Amino acid sequence: MATKKAIAQIVGRVPEVYDNAVAGGSVFYFPSTVETHAEAGTEFEIRLCPALLKKPILPTPHFESDQPPSEHRPAHKDPFAPPFDPSLVVGELQDEEIEADHVFLLNKFSVVAHHFLMVTKEYESQSAPLTPGDLTHAYMTLVAARNAGKPMFAFYNCGDRSGASQPHKHLQFLPLSPEGAPIERLARIHVVEDISKPFSIQALPYANYVLRLPPTTSSQTRGELADTLVFAYLALLDLVVSAARHQPAERQELAPGPPSYNVLLTLEHIHLIPRAQETHTLKGTGEKLSINSLGFAGMLLVKCDEEMQAVKSAGVCSILQDVGMLPVNIPSTTLNESDE
Ligand code: AMP
Repeated sequence: MATKKAIAQIVGRVPEVYDNAVAGGSVFYFPSTVETHAEAGTEFEIRLCPALLKKPILPTPHFESDQPPSEHRPAHKDPFAPPFDPSLVVGELQDEEIEADHVFLLNKFSVVAHHFLMVTKEYESQSAPLTPGDLTHAYMTLVAARNAGKPMFAFYNCGDRSGASQPHKHLQFLPLSPEGAPIERLARIHVVEDISKPFSIQALPYANYVLRLPPTTSSQTRGELADTLVFAYLALLDLVVSAARHQPAERQELAPGPPSYNVLLTLEHIHLIPRAQETHTLKGTGEKLSINSLGFAGMLLVKCDEEMQAVKSAGVCSILQDVGMLPVNIPSTTLNESDE
């Protein structure tokens, strides 16, 4: 079956598979409420989910191995390897043209309804860069979701310090309003002089690199789309590596080895955010808050009112700066100059 049609079917199946999985007890839904918090010219969203207090906090695994977890950590089964719980499976994509095989699974622990994952069929490490096939299937999924009137965005937590909790490569998809995630709203209003070059959102006090995709991207053929996305991703990855190299010495010590970073993919932009550490210690409570791509999309998650207050009084931008990297000087031949 043509890939485009297969993806449309997968996206179309999500609501029904989700409802059945929640009713059958294989997806756990945790209710939450959202408060907004104005900072840096946007409205950050802080989601309070008290049920997370009961969820055990497991140590972050290391993602360097290219072996599946059961082979290097025999006690841990890989939840993204077969056999799958059939009630979590939304579909599969086999794509010889771009050499990518993915399985689409519901997130078993759902804070936002219809949150699903795209995992590689064969084991690949969560510290590996995205491949042309990963990027293309992810973008085609976003196009199918928009066409179905259900906008969403995709994210990838890459590496040990990115906030990921599973070592098997997985991208995630989260439904959201048509206005987009808080950080995407900032990206959208940025005036970009040269669309072939990345830009940084200057209002944010941490290194962040964004590339605006050409307006024709969503109507490109699969081959053209792969080229567009790979060009954008590699340009941004170069900047991530450069930011890591130019951090002050004490920050470099926090982030040894291969870079960790978060990826946000929307129909209009790719954002990459380099990471110095996984957690921020809240002054108010002493609690460690793990931050992943959602935090850098401007959507944070807390477990109790005390944590909500601690996040607001620390300031979201200062938390993100602590776990991200400091902005560095990048020549204007590589990066668009600020529009401010
Ligand atoms: P991350 O923590 O960002 O690496 O994302 C991994 C996601 O997988 C989390 O959102 C978990 O809720 C989800 N997850 C964990 N175990 C399973 C499982 N057995 N099946 C489906 N999703 C899972």
